Amino acid sequence: MLIDPCLWVCVDCAAFIANGEVEDPDPEWSEDNLFWNWPNAFLVLNPENSDGPEYEDNPDVIEFSNSECEGCGSYLAGTRYRAAAFEIE
Ligand SMILES: [Zn+2]
Repeated sequence: MLIDPCLWVCVDCAAFIANGEVEDPDPEWSEDNLFWNWPNAFLVLNPENSDGPEYEDNPDVIEFSNSECEGCGSYLAGTRYRAAAFEIE
């Protein structure tokens, strides 16, 4: 079940979502923070089902942002990738 169709995650979260691991993550990044924020969810990148009308103007990537990562909650400045959160059944 879809929890959040459009959230923006930092580079390290995106790598973790895509690969299950992060090479050379930012010292402040921790997968624990991701699991803490999304304890009963799994995240996917560039979800097709978030392409509804209300999101069609959203890019898949924001080149630079220093707003809070919606995955891990860090303020790591850099690229933000679009993701969606689904509830684990
Ligand atoms: Zn993050």
